[in-house]
Amino acid sequence: MENWEITEDRCKGCGLCVEFCPKDCLRMSAGLNRIGYHAAELIDAQNCNGCAMCAQMCPELAIKIYRRAKVKHA
Ligand code: SF4
Ligand code: SF4
Repeated sequence: MENWEITEDRCKGCGLCVEFCPKDCLRMSAGLNRIGYHAAELIDAQNCNGCAMCAQMCPELAIKIYRRAKVKHA
């Protein structure tokens, strides 16, 4: 699982991220964001592989994927 983050109030509800997610991890939320759109939300975090297709498709640059760094234990 990767860290998936959306700046909800940037989302204009176009649905591209939902459409292009190869893992069907996303959906449009039922509620409205501050600018009046149904924002995308992550519904299946365990299945998200961090491919960042959603972030690349988003015209509003609303999605960010944070990869977890591997921590070396001495
Ligand atoms: S990073 Fe990939 S698998 Fe995860 S939500 Fe985005 S498109 Fe789907
Ligand atoms: S692609 Fe961006 S603007 Fe479109 S629904 Fe997804 S997060 Fe919102």
